[in-house]
Amino acid sequence: MAEFAIIGAGLAGTTLANLLSRSGHIVALFEKNDQCGGRLTAHRADHWQADIGAQYFTVKTEAFQQQVNRWLTLGTARVWDVDPWVFEDRLEKNKKNSITRFVGTPTMASLIEPLDDSIQLYTQTRIDRLDKHNGKWRLWDAAGEHFGFFDGVIITAPLAQSLALLPPSHHLKDLSGNTAMKPCWSCALSFDSALSVEANAVFCNNGIVSWIARDSSKPERNTLTETWVVHFSASWTSNHLQATHNLVVNQALNFLRQIAMDDSAQVTDSYSHCWLYATGKAASNELSLWDQDQHIGIAGDWTVGTRLEDAWLSAYRLAKEIQQDQF
Ligand SMILES: Cc1cc2nc3c(=O)[nH]c(=O)nc-3n(C[C@H](O)[C@H](O)[C@H](O)COP(=O)(O)OP(=O)(O)OC[C@H]3O[C@@H](n4cnc5c(N)ncnc54)[C@H](O)[C@@H]3O)c2cc1C
Repeated sequence: MAEFAIIGAGLAGTTLANLLSRSGHIVALFEKNDQCGGRLTAHRADHWQADIGAQYFTVKTEAFQQQVNRWLTLGTARVWDVDPWVFEDRLEKNKKNSITRFVGTPTMASLIEPLDDSIQLYTQTRIDRLDKHNGKWRLWDAAGEHFGFFDGVIITAPLAQSLALLPPSHHLKDLSGNTAMKPCWSCALSFDSALSVEANAVFCNNGIVSWIARDSSKPERNTLTETWVVHFSASWTSNHLQATHNLVVNQALNFLRQIAMDDSAQVTDSYSHCWLYATGKAASNELSLWDQDQHIGIAGDWTVGTRLEDAWLSAYRLAKEIQQDQF
């Protein structure tokens, strides 16, 4: 039995925390936000809600399929019966669509499973630095308080944030030659009536918007309120990192009205969020992410790919590596 600190409580961090705890380890989980979920977070208001990060997920591996079966049995995931359209300069049906898409219910954040009782969760705790003292890891926050001592530490933050936390000259810093993760402005809008668009989701490629979806068409959503989510392209977002909420909402609304060719539906509420590290992956997915000598590990979607399944797989594989290390 060892004592582990895990930094980041997104899908990778929470999955790993439960796996290590169930193997008999003592686990402390540190999250800079006030809740778990990371990029699966949903916006929730009085009469409406919307997934502002990940929109849906697909399944490629057998290991993840088993996890998805578990979520389906628990009722925390359902198939989203959707056939996304495409938009370049006009709206068109997509010809090649046979993929099963799933969503968390009632929001994508429901895919974050409850933590085992023994796991100690520290929210609103941003870890700034790590060091070793008498062979054990200590974690430091911005206020200079330290947490510890731990036998092992695992970082599950997005790429740049993870590399910043690694001790100087650690060999995993070599990952710094990798592509940076790309940003994404996300805007959610609720309307007083339905937008007259047949499509419930559209992959967009007009340089400004990358995706729109009628969030209220997903299973177990509040169907009484028409809700849309607009994701902006990485290039538009990069050029508008300092954009105001009003600018983002106006751009999103203009685009939806262009698609719907209708401006009768009125916005009743809106929310926007800029994801600075939305998606991106390490150049190699053959990385060994558990350092047996230093007892430090890395997990997170970017170590495997760019999707939610990759976040889950990274945690699953790292837990196995740690188990094989008989740590
Ligand atoms: C706009 C958008 C759309 C997406 N669409 C899809 C999609 O449709 N389908 C799909 O499969 N995937 C999609 N993704 C990707 C998917 O959301 C991610 O692959 C997955 O959620 C990543 O989980 P994670 O645990 O690896 O990272 P995260 O969810 O980013 O979790 C990392 C956690 O670490 C915390 N943290 C960071 N630094 C520190 C620190 N120093 N101290 C403490 N805590 C820290 C963060 O607050 C965060 O909670 C999308 C992502 C975005 C942003």
